[in-house]
Amino acid sequence: MKVDYIIVGLGLAGLAFAEKLLEEGKTFLVYEDASQNSSIVAAGAYNPVILKRFTPVWDAEDQLKLAKPFYDKLEKKLQQKLDYELTILRIFKSIEEQNDWFMACDKPFFSNYMIPKVIPNQNENVIAPFGSGRIKNIGKIDAKTLIDSYKSYLIAEDLLINETFDHFSIILNDNELIYKEVIAKRIVFCEGYGIKKNPFFNDVPVMGAKGELLTIYAPNLKVDEMLKSAVFVMPIGDDMYKVGATFNWTDKTITPTDAGKEELIEKLSKVITSEYKIIDHNAGVRPTTKDRRPILGKHKTHKQLAILNGLGTRGVLLAPKMAQKLFEHLENDQPLDKEITIDRFYG
Ligand SMILES: Cc1cc2nc3c(=O)[nH]c(=O)nc-3n(C[C@H](O)[C@H](O)[C@H](O)COP(=O)(O)OP(=O)(O)OC[C@H]3O[C@@H](n4cnc5c(N)ncnc54)[C@H](O)[C@@H]3O)c2cc1C
Repeated sequence: MKVDYIIVGLGLAGLAFAEKLLEEGKTFLVYEDASQNSSIVAAGAYNPVILKRFTPVWDAEDQLKLAKPFYDKLEKKLQQKLDYELTILRIFKSIEEQNDWFMACDKPFFSNYMIPKVIPNQNENVIAPFGSGRIKNIGKIDAKTLIDSYKSYLIAEDLLINETFDHFSIILNDNELIYKEVIAKRIVFCEGYGIKKNPFFNDVPVMGAKGELLTIYAPNLKVDEMLKSAVFVMPIGDDMYKVGATFNWTDKTITPTDAGKEELIEKLSKVITSEYKIIDHNAGVRPTTKDRRPILGKHKTHKQLAILNGLGTRGVLLAPKMAQKLFEHLENDQPLDKEITIDRFYG
């Protein structure tokens, strides 16, 4: 079999690159082995405001311009609701934070998202003595439904192979490569934290930040906006909420832990007072990088091999634009911006 591309990994990165290839009439095959699951467990929020410091997310406006139509198109193609409107109540810890909020609201970038008001708390089950600031015009993608449906779509089109890609079976020739029975022009590795097992790119500084999440059933809570305080509490319907997320820089497994659960329970007790039942507990490793920017580009010597990684904590917003940038680079020799190119690590 002959294809233009092999894609390794079907998280948000691999999915966005596959979509770009389809749009451009290129042929491909995807290998996926469910060894990582960052995209599947992600809360899926997209929000151009950094909630800790009230500063803009890098390049967010531009990423949003591509992301909205990208997910709209996928909703139609997959016949699934994927993109949900969201507002966030950022719970203030102090009067100083209220002041910081108003200062940020004055900046032109934020006027479309941050409402210059302190919203008093009227829900007796929520702890917010200093009130909250509301963020609007943002949303969340149901990333699990997206990945599951896209996988089914690729299987139906004979474009997905459910197996671990074996890097040692690649035979590299001058202008193409052979992998088992497949001849391809290029491979794009979209392996998330799985990149650590890739002998061609395992020196690239993807650090990995494990995140754990709980799904809870809290029938008395009655909150219909996402709360952000010590943890986030995101309503997902039927009195269920996602609660997260932890950041662990040492454990690189995708197994949920008791310690992660305890941390979330402890932090949740500072946000809500109503009773709840834990329904589910998940974990994944975010493919984070030291400089908090994605990593795109070709291998330093094997130009048929490329990487799309480092989406970190913001895969929903980043994936569509990064897939487009990488495609333009590989097919049309468009240079990659210095913040995102893999060349920044090659010296
Ligand atoms: C708890 C948590 C909450 C998050 N919340 C948000 C959020 O609200 N908003 C947001 O934008 N982002 C969020 N993120 C981050 C987001 O999930 C990531 O940025 C994004 O999912 C990374 O996508 P990826 O495709 O690069 O990696 P992954 O999703 O990890 O995908 C990599 C894929 O490659 C496959 N793979 C790896 N090696 C091989 C191999 N050798 N052979 C075959 N297949 C292979 C894996 O099985 C996996 O499916 C969150 C992450 C976590 C963990």
